[in-house]
Amino acid sequence: MYNVQSIRQDFPILQTEVFGHPLIYFDNGATTQKPRQVVEAMVQQYYTANSNVHRGVHHLSVVATDMLEQSRETVRRFIDAESAHEIVFTRGTTESINLVASSFCQQEMQAGDEVIVSCMEHHSNIVPWQIQAQRKGIIVKVIPMTNDGILLIDEYKKLITKRTKLISVAHVSNVLGTINPVAEIIRIAHEHGIPVLIDGAQSVPHMPVSVRALDADFYCFSGHKVYGPTGIGVLYGKREWLDRLPPYQSGGEMIGTVSFEHTTFNEIPFKFEAGTPNYVAATGLAKALEYVEKIGMANIAAYEAELTQYAITQMAQIENMRIFGPMPNEQLPDSKGIITRGSVISFLVGQIHHLDMGTLLDRLGIAVRTGHHCAEPLMHRLGIEGTMRASFGLYNTHDEVDVFVAGIRRVSKMF
Ligand code: PMP
Repeated sequence: MYNVQSIRQDFPILQTEVFGHPLIYFDNGATTQKPRQVVEAMVQQYYTANSNVHRGVHHLSVVATDMLEQSRETVRRFIDAESAHEIVFTRGTTESINLVASSFCQQEMQAGDEVIVSCMEHHSNIVPWQIQAQRKGIIVKVIPMTNDGILLIDEYKKLITKRTKLISVAHVSNVLGTINPVAEIIRIAHEHGIPVLIDGAQSVPHMPVSVRALDADFYCFSGHKVYGPTGIGVLYGKREWLDRLPPYQSGGEMIGTVSFEHTTFNEIPFKFEAGTPNYVAATGLAKALEYVEKIGMANIAAYEAELTQYAITQMAQIENMRIFGPMPNEQLPDSKGIITRGSVISFLVGQIHHLDMGTLLDRLGIAVRTGHHCAEPLMHRLGIEGTMRASFGLYNTHDEVDVFVAGIRRVSKMF
């Protein structure tokens, strides 16, 4: 049994009041709240096991290094990678994508070569490629979608040419909630010998992910969106790719030997981890992953899917409600029954400006996101400026959805 009330006890911030109302936190797509277990593990490390890693022979340094490598192993297990060497700690999804864009383009791409992204990408999976386009003359191509926010796989196939060197798409859209058929996207790319990077920022916190089952070449996510701390994220890369790519940043830790004449690089993953890593945040991330693992990712996915379905059904009854993205029961023709929507609901009501409604909902204690959600090209595609976005986490409840829906009705009446 999924015991949401008991889960809520682990998150002290959920007891907060905002403008005299109990906080309803529906901005989990931006960042999630942290359970005590995560915060306490980090505090404990600072109090008892703080030391720089991979550097000292002294006791504390050995303990801190062991903890970091254990955290790496926890991440490996969580995303089902083959080896912990394939887990690079970064600052988050953004840095992970920048790493691949920089290292991959430097070595594997020439002017005129192409990278394919989708029209629903976050800016962090658009701008790094555009910068490479400016620097190296690579070309960025875009997979289109239906008005319901489902990627057009036939169009994707047509975009692939002999110059296509990499595909980079989001597993789950942070605006539409669409769960993209990434296994299919990867399979098609591999038929052409093209590697694929998956932005898992919005998938890893909400569903079981196996990088091996997907056969992803690169996969990344952010710790803070999966109930872990800020300042830590992950880049998974298949060993053969990580071995092959050049370093991203340089300095301490990432070297083998250094002389003024010649420097060699460390083995993976350390080759990509220049400088002191955020080892305390890695401890927090590992704790967060253990926390969600204990509840069960499949249980979290089922609970959130039902909550999302419930919210959409209630919201759809509100006059002039416009919900973006696929409906929960809509299925891709070739999806073999896989639901196409995660726990993100972007919406607009009539002509009410998203900022106005977001501000008034806040007065009722309800935290939703407003704006373009770092996906301006997607807003252009939808012909809008921005939306309100409710995004659920494992601790949200049906009662909260009821208050939220009543809040939207109340605010709508004011206009
Ligand atoms: N990709 C997606 C799909 C996201 O939702 C986000 C965060 N909103 C990012 C990338 C960037 O994540 P971060 O800011 O943690 O690097």
